Amino acid sequence: MGGPVSDVLLAEPRGFCAGVDRAIEIVERALTLFGAPVYVRHEIVHNTYVVNDLKAKGAIFIEDLAEVPAGATLVFSAHGVSQAVRNEAQQRGFQVFDATCPLVTKVHIEVAKLHREGFEFLMIGHKGHPEVEGTMGQLSDGIYLIEGVDDVATVQVNNPGKLAVVTQTTLSVDDAAAILSAIKERFPQIREPKRQDICYATQNRQDAVKMLAPQVDVVVVVGSPTSSNSNRLRELAERLGTPAYMVDCPEDLRPEWFARGARVGLTAGASAPEVLVDQVIAQLKSLGAAGVRRMQGVEESVRFPLPKGLKLPGEGAGNED
Ligand code: SF4
Repeated sequence: MGGPVSDVLLAEPRGFCAGVDRAIEIVERALTLFGAPVYVRHEIVHNTYVVNDLKAKGAIFIEDLAEVPAGATLVFSAHGVSQAVRNEAQQRGFQVFDATCPLVTKVHIEVAKLHREGFEFLMIGHKGHPEVEGTMGQLSDGIYLIEGVDDVATVQVNNPGKLAVVTQTTLSVDDAAAILSAIKERFPQIREPKRQDICYATQNRQDAVKMLAPQVDVVVVVGSPTSSNSNRLRELAERLGTPAYMVDCPEDLRPEWFARGARVGLTAGASAPEVLVDQVIAQLKSLGAAGVRRMQGVEESVRFPLPKGLKLPGEGAGNED
């Protein structure tokens, strides 16, 4: 008789998005070109394995620029930074490479543009998340955080006729839609972005879990506890009625999560590397999984150019902004 796991269904797409790929490549290239240490403000992406791997290669992760010595090379994480952080880095003369995901930068640009036109903002997001701090920190005032529907009733704005909404890129698509509908009820004139701020990777990974969860007994999400989009994948599976767990590494898997013969659905957040998915699959096989089947899903072809100044010796043109 086999172990508790009968087989594995793999979500498609899962794991790394274009913004995470780019951010990691920026740190790796900076290390190659300028040597260790390279300072990185905040975890480059919210994944323990990725951060430890880069630490081993010579990256030093800091939260406060006061920890960065003069003349150092500094990378901003994929989540983006406030104007205050950007200005401080410039004033102190660091060599800065900005790994802010271009889809987060798009939100920053929108905020700056509409602010010049006199708009205030509601930002749908999670308090304390670095992306929210970065986006809200594009302005010194006039941007108000909305964490849930309850906040919509109490938020105070100066002019409801000049109000725009922006969102964190990694939210639950369904929660954000419910909050936005409450916002539109109270502020019918609110200006929305032309294209939603929740990014393609978040949307595609959540769509895949919606297909995956009803077909399996348990969902396992590979992701770190700090990863917003990974947490949303786990919550989504549970909302669909399938028990779901998040694992940062294969050692986190617990045999007691699986009843005998359980079909396991496996996915990974946008910051979780495929090597961890492979290790989790190996562990599930040791728990009895006989086969691994891949779901059909959206193919992603998004790639973002690297910032200037990171060309490796002998490399041609074409991969920079
Ligand atoms: Fe960019 Fe979306 Fe990936 Fe975040 S999850 S880095 S916004 S593509």
